Amino acid sequence: MKILKFGGTSVGSAERMKLVEQLINTEELKSTSRIIVLSAMSGTTNTLVQISELLYAKNYPQAALVITEMELKYRKIIGELYKTEGIKERTSLLLDTHFGHIRTLAKDRERFSSIKERILLAKGEQLSTAMFQYFLEENGVKSILLDALEFMRIDENNEPEMDFISEHLHLELAKHANNLLFITQGYICKNSFGETDNLKRGGSDYSASLIGAAIDAEEIQIWTDIDGMHNNDPRIVDKTVPVAELSFDEAAELAYFGAKILHPSTITPAKAKNIPVRLLNTMAPQMKGTVISNKSATSDIKAIAAKDNITMVNIRSTRMFLAYGFLRKLFEIFEKYKTPIDMITTSEICVSVTIDTATNLEAIIKELEEFSSVEVTHNQSIICIVGDSMGDTMGYSGKIFGSLSHILIIIDGKDKKETLQALNKGLFNL
Ligand code: ASP
Ligand code: MG
Repeated sequence: MKILKFGGTSVGSAERMKLVEQLINTEELKSTSRIIVLSAMSGTTNTLVQISELLYAKNYPQAALVITEMELKYRKIIGELYKTEGIKERTSLLLDTHFGHIRTLAKDRERFSSIKERILLAKGEQLSTAMFQYFLEENGVKSILLDALEFMRIDENNEPEMDFISEHLHLELAKHANNLLFITQGYICKNSFGETDNLKRGGSDYSASLIGAAIDAEEIQIWTDIDGMHNNDPRIVDKTVPVAELSFDEAAELAYFGAKILHPSTITPAKAKNIPVRLLNTMAPQMKGTVISNKSATSDIKAIAAKDNITMVNIRSTRMFLAYGFLRKLFEIFEKYKTPIDMITTSEICVSVTIDTATNLEAIIKELEEFSSVEVTHNQSIICIVGDSMGDTMGYSGKIFGSLSHILIIIDGKDKKETLQALNKGLFNL
């Protein structure tokens, strides 16, 4: 079985959906069992977030306006995507149902809540998958729409429940034993309370990987609008090139440190089951893209990524500095506020850590200040350089870097563009 995931831009219009239909029905794939995981049409989740924010702010007239605009956009697609009156009629009813529901969630004036918000956020994927499945039906392509809420579940720590997912997905698939093509929603899931929830923004990649791991798929394909992971950030740096092969660890590192192409958790389930992840481009399907697997052929520097909005916290203490238990005490404070630390350095007089979630910073500082003095710098960027044998150059620095598989550098956010461009020249001669 293969998993093919298509992102928001890949299903972003009627035209693009028609392309997806061709990509999942090539001669090569036709006889293979496959699960197609779809994101919401591009822009939809942002609009749903906007509606939620308006509802929390009790700005009902504006929320109603945004909902109507969104509905009009979807109604317009009916004419562009379908040919037959029957399917147009059914899609129209589908939109009646979903937008009716959205308006009910928006109407209950006093009590817009996190539960309602998550039901609202699920609408994008529910709409895209249902509409795409109608399109397949109209074109005589047999497929089954699987409801991700039936098998995708996270626990009380928002971690996927692998056994549950595997068991229930197998049950769903077994109901249609002779069917080869399945469609399902990325991003959405149920939580441990049985509420509708999600895997956080960009989570459809993660869904695809969890689904792949749950059924021991042969391959997970992530289809986006770029030909694989690039050696540097193509949005910032002038010349970048796709990287043909990456190891699971290299890809995970790049995704975590800023490569926007992949949700940072995507690699974990695939790596656990040793399932190759292939990054492909909907607009250029003939390109090889990037293969992420347990082997990484060449030993070389592979790529650079950058993570923004990093906060650096410098902690100094005269008393008991670097004595037994000092770092534990320090880490416990970050742990208490569920704030992960990305980098840490210690010197004789100071411990510096970087974090990318500053939500609980004030509380953290307050506790740190009980035994140290704290200094905070915002708007830093972490540059992450990934690859093997970084030490092909001469000298000690070459030898030192050669023994590392990745390097993290922290810089001021405003120097990011220049640094990435300089590294592109220096490391890749681009
Ligand atoms: N639709 C969701 C988002 O925009 C999930 C995804 O596209 O991966 O974040
Ligand atoms: Mg994405």
